[in-house]
Amino acid sequence: MSQIYCGIIIVSLLPFLCRAYEINAGEQVWSVRVNRDDDFLRLTNILVQPIAKVERERSHHNHTQLYFRVEKRYIKRLRTELAINGFRYDIIVRDVLQQLDMEHQSISKRRKRSTSSSVEFDYTRYHRLNEIEDWMDSMASNYSFVSKISIGTSYRGRQLHVLRVSANPSDSNRPVLYVDAGIHAREWITPAALMYVVKEIVSNHSYAHLLPALDFYFVPVVNLDGYDFTWKRLRNRLWRKTRRPYPANNRNCHSAISFGVDGNRNWDVNFGGDGASNTTCSYLYHGPFPESENVIRHLADFLRQEKKRIKGLISLHNYGQQILYPYNYDISKSAPTESQLRFVGNKLSAAIESVHGRRYESGRGSKVLYAFPDVFSGSTSDWAYEKAGIPLSYTIEVRDTGTFRFELPEYEIIPTSEEVMAGIQYISEYIIETYAPDEAISSQEPKA
Ligand SMILES: [Zn+2]
Repeated sequence: MSQIYCGIIIVSLLPFLCRAYEINAGEQVWSVRVNRDDDFLRLTNILVQPIAKVERERSHHNHTQLYFRVEKRYIKRLRTELAINGFRYDIIVRDVLQQLDMEHQSISKRRKRSTSSSVEFDYTRYHRLNEIEDWMDSMASNYSFVSKISIGTSYRGRQLHVLRVSANPSDSNRPVLYVDAGIHAREWITPAALMYVVKEIVSNHSYAHLLPALDFYFVPVVNLDGYDFTWKRLRNRLWRKTRRPYPANNRNCHSAISFGVDGNRNWDVNFGGDGASNTTCSYLYHGPFPESENVIRHLADFLRQEKKRIKGLISLHNYGQQILYPYNYDISKSAPTESQLRFVGNKLSAAIESVHGRRYESGRGSKVLYAFPDVFSGSTSDWAYEKAGIPLSYTIEVRDTGTFRFELPEYEIIPTSEEVMAGIQYISEYIIETYAPDEAISSQEPKA
């Protein structure tokens, strides 16, 4: 069966159906900037499938930038249509497959060079799932205060693990910060950045003040099957969803079976609402029912069990450089503690910006894109906030803003990781200050 890739982003107010496509040779990524609502609507009427596959919509205070892929055979037609309607476009990627191939070549070249098994874990590179698993084992065996906890299995039978970092696991009073990554398979930068953060927290003395008062739960890869799939074949690289098969339920789906669910639409919060699709082949498919995907159900069970102690939750994604807090699913709904969420969100943004000067915009998920509504239902952070009562729940979209997108070059891994680390440090200190019992702060530091 041909491998499929579904690439359309939701335009909230319009009906959207996603057809499954391979990435074709000569396919390009274009971007168009629009300043007004009516231009936006005119543009989205032009950018329909199969002519354009919208990939990302990035809005700013006074304009929106749309990113979409165009197959070679539609380039001329679309160029003409945009010109007739007075839209200018930029070519962001001249050949998507070629770009993926370059990424692939550099990774395989490097792999050939470093075949020795004794080398230290390389945080400047992207890693396959089995290497991430081995890394989790080594963290747990090298540090007495790190443990690897299995919380269930994925659809394809892979063990879903949480790394617990705790100086005193028997103390049930200390607050917890939970951070996950890789719920969307193609967002390789997120597991890479999270592993760097874990390494820093357990080994860099600059963060030793956190562990006496705070525990951490880290899930480096949520969507195990999807992540593994993105490494199997070049054309799979941009896969986003899980890998459970579902019968196609729309005539626009190209094959009888569609694979996967969008894990960030599968949580039991406003399930199936705006910003999620009930079409199985859509890349925003929410699944047949909440928590239908094994990994989401196991995570939800884990969070339900630990929710009393978890004061902060961060779900890492790319791309966009944004810090989003609840609610994501309804533009008119503000969180009861929005002022706290806004305060911490702005501080996160400032902490991140202080590292390399990169601006991460912070705001209510449904409103951070000021120019146009952009809502999404069934997300991790809305569920954590509304259903699990975790007060500081955030989605952080890390680098970049559209240049390299999901194929962020490896040289950007460390700078991005440093930005995430600065955010984690800030929120950790805030949680300790706000939620830790006083006696915890003076207890002993852990030993490696
Ligand atoms: Zn994502």
